[in-house]
Amino acid sequence: MKNADELQLLYYLYILKKRGIEKRGKIAYTKEKKVIEIELDEKNEEKIRKVIAEVYKIVENEAAPTLKKLTYCKSCAYFDFCYAEEGEGENAK
Ligand code: SF4
Repeated sequence: MKNADELQLLYYLYILKKRGIEKRGKIAYTKEKKVIEIELDEKNEEKIRKVIAEVYKIVENEAAPTLKKLTYCKSCAYFDFCYAEEGEGENAK
């Protein structure tokens, strides 16, 4: 989930920058006792712009993408949405 965590923080930094606020961010992994610093440099800004463009492409599709069952789905906050039609919602956790 490290990549997802970084993208989420990059998104926040990107939105703040668009509002005239330039900040750096930190992600704290308490179990691992590790802190990662994230900066919205040119490379990361390009990366988050591409991800946002991909999200818009998905949103504009007529149907949702096919479900890819991933090992970390059961601990994901969106599990009930992704698996709603599979009958593996809340009770399957
Ligand atoms: S539950 Fe859905 S959003 Fe979460 S990791 Fe699985 S496929 Fe991705």
